[in-house]
Amino acid sequence: MISNKISNRLANSSMIRAMFEEGARLKKIYGADKVYDFSLGNPDPEPPAEVKAALRELANSKEPGMHLYMNNAGYTEVRETIAGKINRETGLQLTFNNVVMTVGAGGALNIVLKTLLNPDEEVIIFAPYFVEYTSYIDNHGGKAVIVNTDSRTFLPDPELLRSKITPNTKAILINTPNNPTGVVYGADILKAIANVLEEKGREYGHTIYIISDEPYRKLAYDVNIPNILTIYRNAIMIDCFSKSLSLPGERMGYIAANPEAEDIDTLMGGLIYCNRVLGYVNAPALFQKVIARTIDSTVDINIYKERRDLLYNGLTNLGYECVKPDGAFYLFPKSLIADDVEFKNRAVKYNLLIVPGSGFGCPGHFRLAYCVSLETIKNSLPAFEALAKEFK
Ligand code: PLP
Repeated sequence: MISNKISNRLANSSMIRAMFEEGARLKKIYGADKVYDFSLGNPDPEPPAEVKAALRELANSKEPGMHLYMNNAGYTEVRETIAGKINRETGLQLTFNNVVMTVGAGGALNIVLKTLLNPDEEVIIFAPYFVEYTSYIDNHGGKAVIVNTDSRTFLPDPELLRSKITPNTKAILINTPNNPTGVVYGADILKAIANVLEEKGREYGHTIYIISDEPYRKLAYDVNIPNILTIYRNAIMIDCFSKSLSLPGERMGYIAANPEAEDIDTLMGGLIYCNRVLGYVNAPALFQKVIARTIDSTVDINIYKERRDLLYNGLTNLGYECVKPDGAFYLFPKSLIADDVEFKNRAVKYNLLIVPGSGFGCPGHFRLAYCVSLETIKNSLPAFEALAKEFK
């Protein structure tokens, strides 16, 4: 009774959810401390104290009309706060007009894609990619074109990218720090990508946008995350507070564009219109105000760094091959057999819940979300060791 398309998508998209349910089942049998659940990217540190304090203060505020509809782009003062922060970090000159508050990064991606895409226009994504990208592109009538990254570094190859651009390419969608690899794209690679897009855009006589999905930009370990708006004029930056403030359930994100982007007013008008007609209407009112008051806060990223080090060192000492991530909270090691789904099934026998790389368009690997306690990581290592022995 549901559409054929959604029916097919349901069958293919349930991998991470299925792991989640499997985890709940195993925890009932063995106890939560005996199950090593690395399946979901749900941040476990509590939001910073100042976020909770701002929320309490705002909830007690006597200001009238705090819970009403507003401009579809969000509160002007909140957008001004975000523009100001980007300007301080980059020297750019954004105003509130260059910022739209959104329902998380997921809402932002859908708004951007709906605004940009004509039927069958292509959006290039790099594998491995965030699982929802192909659905989001399909939501708005676009075609996802998947381009592999380097198999050792997971970095995109600008020349390979060049070869995949057609007259129908509307945008490339990048994600740095990356889910599922944790890899960060440095300024050099971003500049090389930007040069390719400038050249191909000139050749085909239209702009090719960079959509830069950056939910993990504040979760970077000792590396600098360049701001894409300073590198490419026609970049659209997407950020959210789901990971940096541990607030994924509150659905807060934003889109920012360079005031020098081509026909910026029409672009922003399109984004604001799409925020409305996709039914988001506006980002949640109360949390916009919380964000404006805590714009400089982040969860303590040393929590994640310590876990990354423990898990990365533990696994590589056991012989697993893995790129050391510079950001986000994921590891993406090679599976010990080519069939990563079978590898995931074998891991379950040791109460290890991992996600096969094929779900991210990159078979032969598996993803570990290390938003779990240090103790869980420590206790999981003998299980990873036993699993590895099966394949020796
Ligand atoms: N993009 C990437 C790469 C993600 O990993 C996620 C969430 O895990 C999202 C977008 C969605 O973020 P949000 O919860 O803010 O919608």
